[in-house]
Amino acid sequence: MSNAVLKLTKHEINEIQKAYQPYIQPKTPQGGLFVAKVNGCTITAYNSGKILFQGPSAEQEASKWGASIDKSKNTIEKKARKKHAHLPPENVSSLSLIGSDEVGTGDFFGPITVVAAYVSKENLSLVKEYGVKDSKLLKDPQIIEIAKQLVQTIPYSLMVLPNPKYNALQSKGMSQGKMKAMLHEQAISKVMAKIADPSEVDGILIDQFCEPDVYFRHTKKSPNQKPRIYFETKAEELHLSVAAASIIARYAFLKKMDELSEIAGVTIPKGAGPIVDEAAAKIVMRHNVDFLKEISKSHFANTQKALKLVNQKRKKQ
Ligand code: MN
Repeated sequence: MSNAVLKLTKHEINEIQKAYQPYIQPKTPQGGLFVAKVNGCTITAYNSGKILFQGPSAEQEASKWGASIDKSKNTIEKKARKKHAHLPPENVSSLSLIGSDEVGTGDFFGPITVVAAYVSKENLSLVKEYGVKDSKLLKDPQIIEIAKQLVQTIPYSLMVLPNPKYNALQSKGMSQGKMKAMLHEQAISKVMAKIADPSEVDGILIDQFCEPDVYFRHTKKSPNQKPRIYFETKAEELHLSVAAASIIARYAFLKKMDELSEIAGVTIPKGAGPIVDEAAAKIVMRHNVDFLKEISKSHFANTQKALKLVNQKRKKQ
């Protein structure tokens, strides 16, 4: 069995936790932050900032995240940001690009929303004027305000994967990575069809969520297709099309969450933390487990945690 250990900052660990959210296990060891199981690899994060990867794909999984401390046999070396053949060119920010990004993958409640948006060279300054920037720097009311302007101005396509469909695919064994790849691909081809002269598109930039090879395998796309598909993490910072896509995707997600809150009669929180467990428990008490499953990614550990809470609450009654 191969192992890899990383020592990371709190922020980096938060990012990793988000990425593994669907695979988080209900139990954590002492001093542990979370345990996730993915592709035969067990990932254990500790409060100390160490992350342990165990299993046949340990090194591969760990290499996604970079820096390590130990240079002993079982650890991997610090790696520079992963280089691959599909990084965008130096002048990326001034090109006419379709950008794509997704929201909701780490949230227990609500769908996954994926948006591809086109921002031509000519539209760059206009989009910037709307206040488009990294959506992580924007609060929900700003997201909504900017998104409302964007959807009236630039070509975009929104794909929504509702919870029942997500749960059905997941229980058939489809990975979240594959679902995302397919949604991105659909959004991209739909927005492409909306562009009057597709030959003006310099490229496609995907906010990277998997290795390019994996993306091409899932979508059966050619790596040599024209226009080229580029992948980079934090792509929101590289081109306004990705930032715009992210804002529209978040806007759509927020709207869906409002709808679900309405239906459930309970304010539904984002994320997958303890507040989410509490809300889920409330929903089970008010409705039932099946209802909870209809509005959530039911394989997340939150389902079990909520049921535990429900049992405790019912005992007290
Ligand atoms: Mn993203």
